[in-house]
Amino acid sequence: MAIQHEVTMPRGSRLARGLVDEERGLRLTLQGIIDEHAQLGGLASELQARLADRNLADRCGGSPRVTFDLAGIERLTSAGVREWILFMRALPQPGHYVWDPGGPVMVRQANAILGFLGGARVTSLLYPLFCPSCDHELDEPLVIGPGATPTSIVPPSVACPRCRAEMEAAEDPSQYLGFLGG
Ligand SMILES: [Zn+2]
Repeated sequence: MAIQHEVTMPRGSRLARGLVDEERGLRLTLQGIIDEHAQLGGLASELQARLADRNLADRCGGSPRVTFDLAGIERLTSAGVREWILFMRALPQPGHYVWDPGGPVMVRQANAILGFLGGARVTSLLYPLFCPSCDHELDEPLVIGPGATPTSIVPPSVACPRCRAEMEAAEDPSQYLGFLGG
């Protein structure tokens, strides 16, 4: 059973955060806007302290994993991009960091900015789809297996919940999955 540590939004911040224990480490859920008020420095300190806790390492049987749930990030400002890169650099290295899932806002930044992933591996993401028949849009979960490349992954295919037409990828895989390299 996951133990809830906190779900907080620091004063002045527009970024909500929740940190829970899970089987192989910690799960950090971030929702909202990453800007100069996100106070990621304090969050990095908290993660450092949690990762240094020997009880956590014992429970996980080794190096604890930090899983980032980034589906709910709505926007980053340019100051927020800087905050995020500093945040990732402040985490203990080597570490075991995964995005599960990465939302479109974060995935686009990972494609645009070198170092944005900060050594994290993306194990799943949300893929933007649109309906060619009625223009409905949605983000569909997609698992990213080890060794996946932009050309080895087929964007999700689902029926439009409004008109049942087959939805199409709203972004070219070679661009949207470009952070995978290859
Ligand atoms: Zn439709």
